[in-house]
Amino acid sequence: MTVLVLSDIHANLEALTAVLNDAGPCDGVICLGDIVGYGASPAEVVDLIIELAPRWLLRGNHDRVCAGLTDALLFSPVARKAVEWTRTQLSSEQTAWLASLPAGPLSLGDSTTLCHGAPHDEDFYVLGPDDAWIALEGLRGPLCLHGHTHSQTVFRRQRDMVFDETPAHRARWAVPLTSDSQWLVNAGSVGQPRDGDPRAAYAVFDPEAETLELRRVQYDVVRAQRRIRAAGLPDVLAARLGAGN
Ligand code: ZN
Repeated sequence: MTVLVLSDIHANLEALTAVLNDAGPCDGVICLGDIVGYGASPAEVVDLIIELAPRWLLRGNHDRVCAGLTDALLFSPVARKAVEWTRTQLSSEQTAWLASLPAGPLSLGDSTTLCHGAPHDEDFYVLGPDDAWIALEGLRGPLCLHGHTHSQTVFRRQRDMVFDETPAHRARWAVPLTSDSQWLVNAGSVGQPRDGDPRAAYAVFDPEAETLELRRVQYDVVRAQRRIRAAGLPDVLAARLGAGN
């Protein structure tokens, strides 16, 4: 059983299309939120996710704000501008669909927890081992898949230590998932990577075989940038796609 793991697509249709082509047919889809916000294709990306019908689907902070469930006061001015523009692009049905997404965490079987930021807080950023320790606190199963930071990261807790096992940038990397540890894995961002690698990030998970592969794939960054600029969104949102930061 292969399950495609998507997170932080951020309305980047070009990146999402490249990921779907690269991954090929899968038996299921996990979507860990931030479907919209920042990118130029919120309506198209929402429709594509609805069509994919992820078996495991939860919201991100941008989905929540773009759906009008909370305000954008804590967002940066650039993110706020993107929220305002995104709201004008979504139909009332698409907005209602976004608003209906659960906050998480969700469970996949007995072993895997799914969330946007961290199990205890959908807005929590896991940026290092200390954050990973907090995120893993209270987690019973051996694996947690999350998003939110836009960086492909791998943290491993063994007894009272947390180790950063994040790989150097590679196209494909199998997370070892040894049974002596708990694993906190961020598959990275499909549509706005911030870990210095501009390629779209995703993962393929097999819950039965207990394998998890992190992947990167090139996509048409120039087209995504051109469409962000044509939409009148802040230029920094186009520029950062080229740098992957
Ligand atoms: Zn995000």
